[in-house]
Amino acid sequence: MERHVYLDNAATTMLWDKVYEKMKPYFMEEYANASSAYSFAQRSRNAVEDARVVIADAINASSSEIYFTSGGTESDNNALKAVADTMGDRHGHIITTSIEHHAILNTCEYLENKGFRVTRLGVDADGKINLKELEDAVCDDTILISVMFANNEIGTIQPIKKIGEIAHRHNVIFHTDAVQAFGHINIDVKECNIDMLSASAHKFHGPKGIGFLYVRNGIKIGAYMHGGAQERHRRAGTLNVPGIVGMGEATRIAMENLNEEIIYQTRLRDYFIEKIMENIPGSTLNGSNIDRLPGNINVCLEHALGETVLIMLDRKGIYCSVGSACTSGAMDASHVLIAIGMSKEMARSSIRFSISSATTMDDVDYTVENLKEIVENLRNGD
Ligand code: PLP
Repeated sequence: MERHVYLDNAATTMLWDKVYEKMKPYFMEEYANASSAYSFAQRSRNAVEDARVVIADAINASSSEIYFTSGGTESDNNALKAVADTMGDRHGHIITTSIEHHAILNTCEYLENKGFRVTRLGVDADGKINLKELEDAVCDDTILISVMFANNEIGTIQPIKKIGEIAHRHNVIFHTDAVQAFGHINIDVKECNIDMLSASAHKFHGPKGIGFLYVRNGIKIGAYMHGGAQERHRRAGTLNVPGIVGMGEATRIAMENLNEEIIYQTRLRDYFIEKIMENIPGSTLNGSNIDRLPGNINVCLEHALGETVLIMLDRKGIYCSVGSACTSGAMDASHVLIAIGMSKEMARSSIRFSISSATTMDDVDYTVENLKEIVENLRNGD
């Protein structure tokens, strides 16, 4: 039988069976609009509110602080634009980092074009921001600090609690893009002084096209989608009941198994990294070897173009990702790998594997065996 080794869980994850089962009735028999007044709709409404409680509990928030969205991109856009909107005709200053996902980077660029000033903090070789630099960057007109919880390419986890402390010391709203972190590591919004947080269900074995934005009670922002009264007037639109129910169930499963999963994936990740280093000369780990997501492996394989390695692995039924994006037909080196100080050539020789609880040691052995052969052949010009 052909192998199928899925190692791209940072891109998306497989939907758990239990999540699908829980969603099914809300596509079929329980199809009522959750906002309708009759008793039939009450069941959909209850299911939505049950999911909201599970999600709120997972981050130590209250359910009135959870707003459902269509995913991480929308949550990020909403967070930044809603805070910017509070300025009316005036503009303000936003602090972010150079390694954010494009959902943040491009929204910042949009706001910059509207007149806002944006500071993009650099990062060290591990991918971490410098806290003093952050504090120095805060100005009288700083309205928002947006720093991702964990990076999608290299898995680096930022010192979120300290960032939150700095933001609050200066009365600045703190938003974090936790799309890669939620469901994978512990998050406590109160302990970390987080005012706004973005997450997306398909990154933790939930359905695609559903996410949430946490907005701390007391944060004064207006609506970010205009229309009906859904989501306490902040995000209009008929609720995606099956999606919300699925995200709730995926959250429940993730939280129930979180500590075990962290241990399992961290061990497997470290075994994976060790195996690559042992078997493939000229390989180095990109990012931090301590503050790293349990499921992230990002390595540079000298003199082996990432895109070529990806295609060769694909032929063996192994699916992973490279640190580059296609812009106008040409492959650009990843902005994250460049930000941690890598040359374009090294960045383009990098590859990301992201594991899940479904990944086995046998999958890792099979992958490294094939990777070793592929890299050797490429270096020999075969
Ligand atoms: N932010 C980060 C860090 C991500 O990794 C992603 C997806 O890859 C997003 C935002 C966008 O999330 P979504 O795919 O739900 O729009």
